[in-house]
Amino acid sequence: MSATALFRGRLLWFEREPAGGDDTTAFHYIEDGAIAVADGTIAWSGDWSELPADYRSDDYVDHRPHLILPGFVDCHIHFPQGQVVASYAGSLLEWLNTYTFVEEQKYADPAHAGRMADRFLSMLLAHGTTTAIAYGSVHKGSVDALLGAAVSRGMRMIAGKVMMDRNAPEPLTDTPQSGYDDTNALIAQWHGKDRVEVAVTPRFALTSTEAQMEMAGALVREHPECLVQTHLSENHREIETVAELFPWSKDYTDIYDHYGLLGPKTLFGHCIHQGPREMERMAESGSVAVFCPTSNLFLGSGLFDLDKMRGTTPATRHAVATDIGGGTNWSMLRTLDEGYKVLNLQGQRYHPLRSFYQATLGNAAALGMEDRIGRLAPGYEADFVVLDSASNPAMALRAETIETLSEELFLLQTLGDDRAVAASIVSGVTAHRRGNA
Ligand SMILES: [Zn+2]
Repeated sequence: MSATALFRGRLLWFEREPAGGDDTTAFHYIEDGAIAVADGTIAWSGDWSELPADYRSDDYVDHRPHLILPGFVDCHIHFPQGQVVASYAGSLLEWLNTYTFVEEQKYADPAHAGRMADRFLSMLLAHGTTTAIAYGSVHKGSVDALLGAAVSRGMRMIAGKVMMDRNAPEPLTDTPQSGYDDTNALIAQWHGKDRVEVAVTPRFALTSTEAQMEMAGALVREHPECLVQTHLSENHREIETVAELFPWSKDYTDIYDHYGLLGPKTLFGHCIHQGPREMERMAESGSVAVFCPTSNLFLGSGLFDLDKMRGTTPATRHAVATDIGGGTNWSMLRTLDEGYKVLNLQGQRYHPLRSFYQATLGNAAALGMEDRIGRLAPGYEADFVVLDSASNPAMALRAETIETLSEELFLLQTLGDDRAVAASIVSGVTAHRRGNA
């Protein structure tokens, strides 16, 4: 078989989460590497000098001296909030009511949703993110627009229509029945089409009635193939309010548990303030806690406690994400940097080998997609990011003294942003090149 595309550069990908800087069997690092792609899939990867004759060609994309990694995966992002980022809000509920619930109403207009879908995907690729799981607005058409745009670009994307039937402006509410019907229609139309999937997406318990939570539970039972995404334990005022709305609940986590929403397919955004009983249920159910550091700092929500996640039996699964637009940056590099600081404030360390594992294979595993994305291994979908460790003057200055891979990764996450993304490749095709945004 001949390759349809051939790439050369330094390769880095992970096999599992590294225990620390010395854990060299957890990852592959190839100084002069080759990736041969055929039909959107990696056909061969390894040392350039060992490239089989069948794949050899003078026509290759030379990314030396840059690093090629699997494309970043963003495990929590809001499609209709690209124009909410940088809104002057104090806390979660003020931010939602003053800015977000106003902006999301625009997505009732399919033309607006279509324009924004294209901008959204371009923005992800400019930041090296090749897969995301996104919240739409309440409007089914917002998800049609986003998944349609992802199909035309050949991207692996997951999205769901937000279900919300109380505590929001009337134009942004659905009903238990319409939320159920629209989600079912989206699944029928999009789930498994090319590389896109549909997620069951109740926004959070604060904006859903008991009847809607029942319907969300029914969708989860009827569609075990679908991921589920919602918010949990982000902000103290939010936690008090949901306790009033669901007075029978033991705690916030118990509400989702009651409706059958915990499980290995569910991603819970934030998970900052949960107590021991809640953590026990998170762990035994296999649910994923999603760390959104820039959002948690911007909205003053609190500090995600990674040791708390690792301290349960089994360890609680986790992921890392931008949470645009409560989050303040589309870049997973900026996100890892802020994540490092959030953990450091609690006396915890986030080794760069671990954080880059998390943004690639770790997040792919949180989505249950670690057999398709997150590695540069044969058989994997050919989504990569090409990173330039000297992409701005401060990075170039510091790069002069870098000696190890771990140092280079830490430089990338501490000083890097979209300028460090030299290219993003989707299904073996260069979908973004720096300077051509
Ligand atoms: Zn969110």
